Amino acid sequence: MPETDPRAERTPTLPTVLRCCAALAATPARLLRPRRPDTRLLSELTVAPLPPATVTVGLTVLTQGEMKAPETIVAEGVRSLREMPLTMAAFLIRHPKARFLVDPALCAHVHDRVLTELPFPVRLLVAPDKPVRGLADALAGHALTGADIDFVVTTHLHWDHVSGLLELPDSVPVRLPTAEHTWAMGGAHAPVGVARGPLRERTFDRFELDGPPVLTFPRSKDLFGDGSVVLVDLAGHTPGSIGVLLAVDDGTRVLLAGDAVWSKLQIELLREKAPMPGVLFDTDRDSAFATIHRLHALPEGIEVIAGHDHAAVTARAARH
Ligand SMILES: [Zn+2]
Repeated sequence: MPETDPRAERTPTLPTVLRCCAALAATPARLLRPRRPDTRLLSELTVAPLPPATVTVGLTVLTQGEMKAPETIVAEGVRSLREMPLTMAAFLIRHPKARFLVDPALCAHVHDRVLTELPFPVRLLVAPDKPVRGLADALAGHALTGADIDFVVTTHLHWDHVSGLLELPDSVPVRLPTAEHTWAMGGAHAPVGVARGPLRERTFDRFELDGPPVLTFPRSKDLFGDGSVVLVDLAGHTPGSIGVLLAVDDGTRVLLAGDAVWSKLQIELLREKAPMPGVLFDTDRDSAFATIHRLHALPEGIEVIAGHDHAAVTARAARH
C-alpha cells in the first residue's frame, strides 16, 4: 500500500468540486427524460448456466444504518416526490468451511471515525442517520465477535461497505478483485467515496474473475468450488464491483449486488441513478448501465439484494 498523507486525501480537490457541479447541472433534464435502455444490448444478452450447488450457506442480514433519498434520484425519471428509505447493511455468511462477511458496512461512530476522511461536500451527501449500529454490536446480536470471522468479501471498496473493518481484528483478510484494490489504493488520492482509514493495515487477498460466464454475467469466480458462493462481475459502479451469488440453505438463490443499483426499482425500470449523485459515485456510467441491463435480464428465481435497498434487505432479514 503506498504511503499517503491522510490530510491530502481529505483535501477537496478541484475535480471533485467540478464533478459535483457537472452532476448537478445534468440532473434536471434527466429527471424529465431518463436515459433510454439499450435494446440492442438487451437482445444480445444470453443466460449462461448457473453452477450446480453441492453445498448451501446460511445468510444473515446485519442491518447497520438508515438514510433517505428522493426516489427520483435513486432511479432517474421516476415521477415521485417520495423519499426512499435506504439501508446500510453487512451480510454474514455461514459456509461449512468458513464464516465470513460480505461488506462489513459500518463501525460505531462512523461519522467521526470515517466520514471525516471524505472531501466536502461529499460527506454531507452520504451520511446515514445517527446513531448507526457498529459491526461489533451487530455481530454480538448473533453471539459472535470479530474473532469468529474468517475473512471478508467486499462488493466494492466504498466507505459504507468497509468501515466495519475497524471493528474486526487486523488478521481478518479482505478478498477482492485486483482491479478494485488497484483503483481504491493505487493513486495518491483516494477516489470519491473511498476512505482509506478502515483499509490500512489490512491484508488483501486479490483475485481475478477468471471463471466462466454465469447467468447474464460475463465472468465469475466460484469461491469454494462447490457452487454455493459464486462471485460475478458487476463492474461499472467501481472497476472491481462484484456480486455475490449464494445458494442459501432455505432453497433460495440470492445475489448480493452491492451498489450496482441502490434499489430494485432501477432493475425493473432499467434506470440509472440520476447524474447527481450517480456521476460522483459510478466510476464508469456506461458500464454501470450495462450491468443494470444484465440484472434486468436475469431469469426468474434470483433474489437480488442491493446493499442499500431497504425493501429487499428488510424482506430478507425478516426470513430468519
Ligand atoms: Zn458504492
